[in-house]
Amino acid sequence: MKCRHCAAPLEHTFLDLGFAPPSNAYLTDDDLARPEKYYPLKIKVCDQCWLVQTEDYAQADELFSSEYAYFSSTSTGWLAHAASYAEKMTGQLQLTQDSLVIEVASNDGYLLKNFVAAGIPCLGIEPTASTAAAAEKLGIAVMREFFGEQLGKQLATTGKQADLIAGNNVYAHVPEINDFTRGLKAALKPGGTITLEFPHLMRLIEHTQFDTVYHEHFSYLSLYTVERIFKAAGLRVWDMEELPTHGGSLRIYGCHAKEARVTTPAVRAMLAEEARRGLQTLATYQNFQAKADRVKDDLLAFLIEQKRAGKKVAAYGAAAKGNTLLNYAGVKPDLLPFVCDAAAAKQSKFMPGSHIPILAPTALDEQRPDYLVILPWNIAAEVKQQNAKLAELGTKFVTAVPKLEIV
Ligand SMILES: [Zn+2]
Repeated sequence: MKCRHCAAPLEHTFLDLGFAPPSNAYLTDDDLARPEKYYPLKIKVCDQCWLVQTEDYAQADELFSSEYAYFSSTSTGWLAHAASYAEKMTGQLQLTQDSLVIEVASNDGYLLKNFVAAGIPCLGIEPTASTAAAAEKLGIAVMREFFGEQLGKQLATTGKQADLIAGNNVYAHVPEINDFTRGLKAALKPGGTITLEFPHLMRLIEHTQFDTVYHEHFSYLSLYTVERIFKAAGLRVWDMEELPTHGGSLRIYGCHAKEARVTTPAVRAMLAEEARRGLQTLATYQNFQAKADRVKDDLLAFLIEQKRAGKKVAAYGAAAKGNTLLNYAGVKPDLLPFVCDAAAAKQSKFMPGSHIPILAPTALDEQRPDYLVILPWNIAAEVKQQNAKLAELGTKFVTAVPKLEIV
């Protein structure tokens, strides 16, 4: 296999999580009577451009046939994040009714609705029908397409180049990252700005966030590598900021390569920090598997210890990262009898692979577990707050990543 960016042969494994079912392939009662499909979950690193990427495997398309669609608007924290972004960009770029904002992977309109409210024309690109329909109900124009160079050029020839192109948590999910980036270039007006948000590989390594690895997540990105990919497409990263989302993300700001915009010191400082932390050193990547294994072993040891002590353990949050963790650890309902999740679409289903049942959060009041393992550690504080009553009754909250601890 060759690197998806620079085409160098991929010779080094960053992380091998064995085989796993797609992280969002939640199962119904009927599904439990059928065979379940597992795919290799192996991540490689390119020793030329340092792009960390999933290994290619057969039948990748099947992964995306899942009926489950995530609606961004279900997270209140994310809505606030989107609103403050819209306000910031409108001021900074002086967007008006003559501007155009394009969001790639516009989901249910959680972000663009803020621009609509401010009277700024916008266009969403979203291939998923259910979320696109939700956005249209909010008055947002949506093209139901996958984004890439072809669509970017089509937008340019139809007078739809954008002053601002936003992509939140889409860049890491595109298989053809070069084609996608050329699409950004084509759809960007002269003088326009691109912003992309993605989980920062540096934080993934620092905090052993190996559970954020799943099949649909094709790339794990550093600023260094994104800058290279932008450069190859005729773009330039001129600014960046760190965000707390998803355990530590970057928001990068891009423009056409030849523009006079000055590159900020923040970009240089982060490039230096990435180098200092060894992001362009092979050993950094080769040491990661052992760190991930320690997290897995500690979780298993904890669950076995509690089972032997006769304690009740449950989990909260049927999130993709929970599936990666539980499947890699081989946890089954004997060690973790149920998971609670507030999303009605997941309730009464089963976690892929582990087949742990997903229940409504009210089950916690009935069961009163001794320990509640919060699988989406990035929202641990929020979950703890929502379940303060349980804590009063004696339940202890646990997170497994970056290390097992009572929180
Ligand atoms: Zn490469």
